[in-house]
Amino acid sequence: MSDKIWLSSPHMGGNELKYIHEAFDANWIAPLGPNVNGFEKDLKIFLDADVKVAALSAGTAALHLALIECGVGYGDEVICQSMTFSASANPIAYQGALPIFIDSEKETWNMCPIALKEAIKDRLAKGKKPKAIIVVHLYGMPAKMDEILTIAQEYDIPVIEDAAEALGSTYKGKSCGTFGRFGVLSFNGNKIITTSGGGALVCHTQQDKDKAVFLSTQARDQAAHYQHSHIGYNYRMSNISAGIGRGQMEVLSSRVQARRAMHDFYVELFRGIDGVTVFTEPSGDFYSNHWLSAITIDPSLAGKTRQDLHLAFLEDDIESRPLWKPMHMQPIFAESPYYGDKVAETLFDNGLCLPSGSNLTDQDRERIRNVVREQFVEIGIDK
Ligand SMILES: *Cc1c(COP(=O)(O)O)cnc(C)c1O
Repeated sequence: MSDKIWLSSPHMGGNELKYIHEAFDANWIAPLGPNVNGFEKDLKIFLDADVKVAALSAGTAALHLALIECGVGYGDEVICQSMTFSASANPIAYQGALPIFIDSEKETWNMCPIALKEAIKDRLAKGKKPKAIIVVHLYGMPAKMDEILTIAQEYDIPVIEDAAEALGSTYKGKSCGTFGRFGVLSFNGNKIITTSGGGALVCHTQQDKDKAVFLSTQARDQAAHYQHSHIGYNYRMSNISAGIGRGQMEVLSSRVQARRAMHDFYVELFRGIDGVTVFTEPSGDFYSNHWLSAITIDPSLAGKTRQDLHLAFLEDDIESRPLWKPMHMQPIFAESPYYGDKVAETLFDNGLCLPSGSNLTDQDRERIRNVVREQFVEIGIDK
């Protein structure tokens, strides 16, 4: 019996333990220290932009702090891409605010600018101006940032970019996570690089970063005793986790190349199979890290459903997963308004994420290839 093939599993570079040992040697076993500072600097250099980075305990924490810094409070409304992981939307609820969900467009699967504009106009007509816009770069694919930023500027609403899946992706040559007022990164175990668990808030001013650090370390006022004039959080990244992050930063570029090579592998594998489309950049403006490779299957053309393929993979202990179930379809967000049509719903019905890890071997790819061939040979598409 061969090993399980995962969708996306941690892939260490080799130097992570070196940084952890340094932390032990200096007794920096705390949510601050040289690795935290070093990791923040590495991220800034990689993003190649005039930004200030705050390393935090999770991407979800970064989203929460971004909303707080945008002034989102009880009873406010926040616009959010519907097709995403629940962590994009949950922090809106932490603040007692209402998420307003937006459909995807077909090219990048991210926030549809047309539906976004419709939503803003309608919320304004109903008497409330949305406090922020959360746009996601799903599976590493950059959203249509020019269109979205133009609308956000027109209505003067800050953009929070959920780039949790898009470290290493660029739009028109500029790093995802650096476009909005805030950018959010994640280093959870399944992301392109990991700190076992962690995240970062990308800011554009020292003031915004200082506020994030202040809030993430229990909001202690300047005083010898413990004095508080704000509600604080315990959201800072530990110096141990940051040590893993520093090691991972040394190999991030090669991880992006490996994930993109997996995407190319799938393009080749599904070439000539009617009804199967591999999720690919719409133009040269978009450069995806292809964190997860994904396909959509049109059953009427392919003669198979995404569930058929999912089960066939399962049979051989290969993990695959339907695309994120849109937030406007989730029971917990049943009360939230939704703007758009059925693009996200259709993607959810027909989409499948495929094994995409940077650590997959030729043998793994052979197993994946065999399952796909068996599935599609059966119905007469021999290639
Ligand atoms: C992973 C992820 C998050 C949350 O990041 P954590 O570090 O796991 O808290 C948020 N948004 C998206 C789109 C994600 O994929």
